[in-house]
This record gives sequence, C-alpha cells and structure tokens, in this order.
Amino acid sequence: MPPRFDAHSHLPRVGVQEEAVPGRDHRRVVCGTCEADWEAVLAHAAGREHVLPMLGLHPWFAREAAPGWELRLGALLRAHRVGVGECGLDFARKDADRAGQETVFCAQLRLAHELRRPVAMHVVKAWGTLLEVLRSEGVPPAGALVHAFSGSPETARELQAMGVFLSFSGDLLKPERQGARDALQAAAADHLLLETDGTADLERVIEAAASLRSTSVTDLELLTWDNARRCFRELMA
Ligand SMILES: [Zn+2]
Repeated sequence: MPPRFDAHSHLPRVGVQEEAVPGRDHRRVVCGTCEADWEAVLAHAAGREHVLPMLGLHPWFAREAAPGWELRLGALLRAHRVGVGECGLDFARKDADRAGQETVFCAQLRLAHELRRPVAMHVVKAWGTLLEVLRSEGVPPAGALVHAFSGSPETARELQAMGVFLSFSGDLLKPERQGARDALQAAAADHLLLETDGTADLERVIEAAASLRSTSVTDLELLTWDNARRCFRELMA
C-alpha cells in the first residue's frame, strides 16, 4: 500500500484511540494551538513515530496569550524536534484583533526562520496581509504550508510561486465550498498537500482530491507523500 500523509490535524478527542495503520507507512502532523496544549502534543508524539508534532499559537488565541509565551514557545522548540504552528491570521470575525494577530504571527515566523523549522499557517480572509507579511518576513526556508486552504486560485498560484505548500482539507467534500475545489484544481502539483484537520476521513479527502485533479488515489498518495517529505523534512527521519 502506498504511504499516506495527513498534513494537519490535532490531538485526538479524549478516549479516541489513535494508532499507526498496520501495513501502511502513515504519518500525521499534530498541531498545538495554545500554550495549554503544547505539553499534551509533545506527550502524544512521544513514542508515536508516525506523529509529527508542531507547537504554536493560533490566531483565535492570540489575544489571550499569557505574557512570555514567546520565550516559552522558543524554549520548547529548542528542546524538541517540532515544527511551528499552527499560527496565522484569521480576519473572518469583524472584531478580529488584526494588529495583535499579525504581531503574534510574525513572532512565530521569526522562530521558524531562526530555528529552521517548518511552519503551519491558518489563514482565513486575510490573504492580502499574509502576502505582505511573507514578503517582508520571508517564507521560512525549512518548509511552510497554509492548511485548509480557502483562498482563490490566483492566491494559490502566488503562494506556491513563493515556495509555500497548500494543504486541502475535508472542505473539498462540502457542497458549499466550491472555492476550495476550484483552488485545488488550479494548484501546482509540486506544492500540494492533503489533510484531515482532525475531523475529516483522510481516505475520503484523497478520493475527492484525486477525482477533482483527474488522477488516481495511488498517484496522489505518492505525490503528497513526496511533497510532505520536502515540507516537513526537518521533522522526518
Ligand atoms: Zn488546525
């Protein structure tokens, strides 16, 4: 069976068993979203070779971050082989603290640069600001992805041209998310990833993506595995 890669998920819900799939090389990125879950992500990844852990401060929790979070995150990143994320910009809510989110995001991009770690970005309705930030801070060279990509085909091409990987989620399966399907069809193969976001069934996401791109499930599994090995090379043996 070809290997399978889930480029973005979270800690399994309490009581849900999450183990490797026998007979198949399977890897899964597990992201922390706030300081309260960083240790739990590290504990979950310990002893599970198929789990690639990342620690970050999600834009939803940027406002309530305790002073000193940046130093504590930096210390954990230095002590463990983990990526940065998820972090980013989410301007979907009218009252979003845009400036505050940008400050918190930039701090994490700088950690990804400095420590040469991959970074997982959550971006919703903030594409102009994302492009500005990436142009001024630079794309972290050890790998960068936008997870659950929801931008336009034009934004997809622009980000991929900067070396950013785009990961598509179970949104592909939702009738109302035609935009995600359009972007997937426009995306370049060499910077493409797939994910469950911790909620979808990876098999169904792969099947939907394969049919939208007129390719086979096996070819897409192999393609996204190779892409993931490039994007997450610092975290994979
Ligand atoms: Zn997430």
